[in-house]
Amino acid sequence: MPTTSRLASSRREFLRQTATAAVAAPALFHAVSAETATGILSGPQKGPVVISTWPFGKPSNEQTLKTLREGGSGLDAVEQGIRLTESDLSNPSVGLGGIPNSEGIVQLDACIMTGPGHRAGSVAAVIGYQHPISIARKVMETTKHVMLVGEGAMRFAQEHGFEKGPEVTDGQREAWKKWRSEQPKPTVGGARPPAPNHDTLALLLLAPDGNLYGGCSTSGWGYKLPGRVGDSPIIGSGLYVDNEVGAAGATGIGENVMRYCASFLIVELMRQGRHPQEACIEVIQRIARQDPKGFDLSINFIAIDRQGRYGAAGTGTGFQYAVAASDFSRVEQSVGLTSAPIGPVGGNRPK
Ligand code: ASP
Repeated sequence: MPTTSRLASSRREFLRQTATAAVAAPALFHAVSAETATGILSGPQKGPVVISTWPFGKPSNEQTLKTLREGGSGLDAVEQGIRLTESDLSNPSVGLGGIPNSEGIVQLDACIMTGPGHRAGSVAAVIGYQHPISIARKVMETTKHVMLVGEGAMRFAQEHGFEKGPEVTDGQREAWKKWRSEQPKPTVGGARPPAPNHDTLALLLLAPDGNLYGGCSTSGWGYKLPGRVGDSPIIGSGLYVDNEVGAAGATGIGENVMRYCASFLIVELMRQGRHPQEACIEVIQRIARQDPKGFDLSINFIAIDRQGRYGAAGTGTGFQYAVAASDFSRVEQSVGLTSAPIGPVGGNRPK
């Protein structure tokens, strides 16, 4: 089937499914127009394709492709791509330049996953190390575990000689002091409302040999409680890679992603035949259907499949993400989904 008719038929199928879902769940939501929501579905891309969250993913994508050109493996490429952004201390969301926790200390989360062998490594609540993505890779490659957190992760990083850095940059320390001075007195446990500042670099690679890889790195939700871990280092939530199907990654409020195992779910929908963008949209719609906050969740997803088709979707006006292949590197705008719930979710079974 020619690409255009394949896309048209995939689009028709998506509209059919969305219509079915609307019939199954009447009255809970204003209709989300599938016509607007679907956008243009990307066709298969040749050669390596890399997709990542936010415009700051663009240089990371380019570093990923450069690493491949220089003979690095798919895993090297993902790691090096993410390290580039982690090294940028002006980035307030990734690496040690990130927004600190409520006690003024930057606490980093990261994970990495490889399609071949279905292996994963992850670290959370790591303080003072520049490259959590590399520590996550080391966990995957040298231990029998998937995830190390806090004290144990830092001892592991120290034993392996990982580069240290500032616990917080001067600029972030000043901003944190100002934030703290404006907050009400902490409640028991030191809880103050976290700041609405957060982003993550999630990066997915379809390597030239057809294998899939992914990684995720973040300083998490700004001014979070010490010890809080978001979705990003949780395999299946902030990232999931399945070499048979595709890969997905997330950015946004982790609490609204990890309760739904969202990246895993996106990959499973792709397994059932959805285009990556349709899968992202469908997962947001499903979450919004169940969540009392509806679409007011600040969650965003990217996805890629084995054919090199990719897509993204976010709540509200959506978000920007970066895509690169052998012959282009650009920032694109995702589909955005907005529709407020108009009735209670759940309740009693009708008599
Ligand atoms: N998902 C990250 C977290 O909750 C933050 C973000 O991507 O905006 O830690």
